[in-house]
Amino acid sequence: MLTQRPRGMHDILPQEASLWHEIEEAARRICARYGFSEVRTPILEHTELFQRGVGENTDIVEKEMYTFNDRGGRSMTLRPEGTAGAVRAYVEHKFYGGPQPIKWFYLGPMFRYERPQAGRQRQFHQFGVEVFGVADPAVDAEVIALGLDFLEDIGLEGLRLELNSVGCPQCRPMYRERLQAYYRPLREQLCEDCRDRLERNPLRLLDCKRETCKALAERAPRIEEALCEECRAHDEGVHRHLEAAGIAYEINPRLVRGLDYYTRTAFEVVEDGIGAQGTVLGGGRYNGLVEELGGPSVPGIGFAAGLERLILALEQRRGEGTSETGVDVFGIALGDEASVELTGWLRRLRALGCRAERGFEGKSLKAQLKAADRLGARWALILGEEERRRGVVMVKDLAGGEQRELPVLEVESWWKETEHGTGR
Ligand SMILES: [Zn+2]
Ligand SMILES: [Zn+2]
Repeated sequence: MLTQRPRGMHDILPQEASLWHEIEEAARRICARYGFSEVRTPILEHTELFQRGVGENTDIVEKEMYTFNDRGGRSMTLRPEGTAGAVRAYVEHKFYGGPQPIKWFYLGPMFRYERPQAGRQRQFHQFGVEVFGVADPAVDAEVIALGLDFLEDIGLEGLRLELNSVGCPQCRPMYRERLQAYYRPLREQLCEDCRDRLERNPLRLLDCKRETCKALAERAPRIEEALCEECRAHDEGVHRHLEAAGIAYEINPRLVRGLDYYTRTAFEVVEDGIGAQGTVLGGGRYNGLVEELGGPSVPGIGFAAGLERLILALEQRRGEGTSETGVDVFGIALGDEASVELTGWLRRLRALGCRAERGFEGKSLKAQLKAADRLGARWALILGEEERRRGVVMVKDLAGGEQRELPVLEVESWWKETEHGTGR
C-alpha cells in the first residue's frame, strides 16, 4: 500500500506534464480573448452545497462523492464538479451587486468515486467556465464558441456540437407529464435505473445508455413541441447567434440535464474517434441555480471539459507525450575546488536565463560528457583543476565538436553573445 497510489488517482509524471501545460495554457489564452477571469475555489466544500447544487437524485450525490466528517464534526465533501463552488463564491462575495455579466473560468482537480477506466479517474481535472447575470442568447453562443475555440486550439478535430433546449419551470412540468404518460405503459421494458427515474426524474430516461431504453427514447415525445413561447424564442436566438458565428450544430432532442434549475440551452461537443463515449465538453444554462444556492434570481450558463479525456485524445493523435525541457549549458567540474567555483557561475548564468545543468559527485570527464549528451545539452563548460588555476574554462560545442578556452570572467558575456546569436 505504501508504494501504491490510491485506485483512480493518477500521478502526472514529468514526461506528461508538458501536455498538461499546453492544455492549461490554451484554456487561459482563449478565456482571455473572451474576457473570462480565473476563479479558484476550495477543493473542499460543505456537503450541503453539492446536495443542493448538483441535486439529491443524481448519481454524483447518491453514489460518487468523497464525503467525510472533519474534526469539528461537519460533513465535508471533495468537490465533484466546479459549478456549485463558483456559484457559492458568486453569492458569498455578492458579485450580483455589481455590473453583469460576471464571466469566470476555473481549472483544477475534482473527485468522484467511480469505476476507473481510460480517460476517467477518481481524481480528475476540469476546465470550466460560468457566466452569471445575463439571460441573452448571445451569451449562450459565446460560451459555446469559447468551448469550441479551446478544443480546436489544442488540436482536436472532427468536433460535433449537439444542442437542445430543456425548457423552463413554466413549460417543463407539462412535458414531464407527457413523458410519463408515454413511458408508464412501457415500464416493464425499462432498465432498473429508468424504472426508478420514471416518477422522480423522467427526463433522464431520454439519455439512458442501455439499448432497450435508447430505442424507447427514439419514439418518445420531443421537448421542442412542448416549449413555451419564451423558451422557443431563446432557442431560436441561440441558433441565429451560432449561425452568425459560423458554428454548425445538430439538434439532439435526447440531450437533457435532468435537474429543475437547468433551463433552456443544453449542449455537448462530441469528438468522433475517441471511442463510444465521445463527449469532450458539456454544459448548459442554469437560470435557477443561483437562487437554489441562496442567492438572488440570477441567470447563469456554463460548461465543463474533462482534461484527462483531452489528454487521451491528444496522445492518440500525437503519440506519447515527450518532455523537452532543454538544456543550454552543462557544467563539468573536475575536482573539488572546480566544483565549488562552478556552483558560483552556474547561478549567474541561470540568472541570465540560461538553462544550465551540471554533473555531480566528481564523476569522470567521460561520464559527465555522457550525461550532458543524454540531456541534449548544447554546450559543455569544462573546468578542470589546471584550467581553474589559469582562470579559464573549456567551452565545447556539443553539436559541432569544436572547443576553445575562455577566461572564466568572460563566461557571462559569452553566454549573452551566444544566446543572442542563436536567437533564443
Ligand atoms: Zn419555457
Ligand atoms: Zn434505462
